[in-house]
Amino acid sequence: MSQPDRPDEFSLIEQVFAPLSAEAPGAFGLTDDAAVFSPGEGMELVLTVDAIVEGVHFLSSDPADGIAQKLLRVNLSDLAAKGAIPRGYLLVTSWRPDTSLAWIESFAAGLCRDQQTFGISLWGGDTVSTPGPLTFSVTAIGEVPRGKLLRRSGARPGDDIYVSGTIGDGALGLAAAEGQLGGTLEDIQFLIDRYRCPQPRNALGPRLIGLASAALDVSDGLMADLTHMCETSRVGARIEGARIPLSPAASHAVDANSSWFGTALTGGDDYELLFAAAPENASAIAAAATESDVPVTRIGTIMSREEGVHAVDSHGRPLTFSRLGFTHF
Ligand code: ADP
Ligand code: MG
Repeated sequence: MSQPDRPDEFSLIEQVFAPLSAEAPGAFGLTDDAAVFSPGEGMELVLTVDAIVEGVHFLSSDPADGIAQKLLRVNLSDLAAKGAIPRGYLLVTSWRPDTSLAWIESFAAGLCRDQQTFGISLWGGDTVSTPGPLTFSVTAIGEVPRGKLLRRSGARPGDDIYVSGTIGDGALGLAAAEGQLGGTLEDIQFLIDRYRCPQPRNALGPRLIGLASAALDVSDGLMADLTHMCETSRVGARIEGARIPLSPAASHAVDANSSWFGTALTGGDDYELLFAAAPENASAIAAAATESDVPVTRIGTIMSREEGVHAVDSHGRPLTFSRLGFTHF
């Protein structure tokens, strides 16, 4: 059933989406075929895209504004991981015939809030309809000093390994949302919020340029993403399990059932920055963390490739991970 209250494609763009482009002159108020943008002197463009599908990445019952914010934030996290400053984004929306104007307006309100939080504007996009699930895609555009983009490939044996924020809240939040995790209402709510609304580390990322030898954002899970970075850098890594920063809510879950520790390290949806840096940069990294108001924790050391990627407990014993948890050898 088509929604009687819903304006046609062009009115929808004009009424709901054009206001989101107001601060970007190069978007021409979404009245032209394309947008223009010039990076600053000595800067180059950084581009990233992510798509989400109803029933796969979000549920029909999830709030529209939160869906929009998460879509934007996962892209902003990719820019943060590369040291890029976010500037704008392109948005593809495919609406079902029964998607209401109120739902679309709530989606746009979520975008509007995060545009202000992160200092970005909508530059353009495309609007289509679909007989299938709702599908959205954001292409985020940022800029970085020429040649300075933080790559996955520069980690060297002896480098320290750091993460921002806390690890595991996203995965535990998903478990909590699915009713699998016990605990206080406050802890449950905190973890679900962390899962629904990641905090991309855009204040920290650009400050790591010249300090980090390699970086990426943790979306698949700490151990998996660390492995990606190590493969690209052709190195190994040793993570000290006892150093992994956990939020109070995640600590409570792990204290109640230690198998949640494995979930925290392998579960994904953290959107924290994972990076390597030479030990002589330690104090500059601490300063970058303070300036950006994003906590950073050293969790291990880059090793030679032959040593592989592994984690050890506080006694130096290896931790092994299954999809559901970890066990000692
Ligand atoms: P064309 O048919 O020439 O590709 P469209 O009619 O699709 O142009 O788009 C007209 C304008 O509206 C363009 O500036 C485009 O970037 C913008 N636009 C369309 N859909 C969206 C959207 N979902 N979000 C933001 N801008 C959009
Ligand atoms: Mg079009």
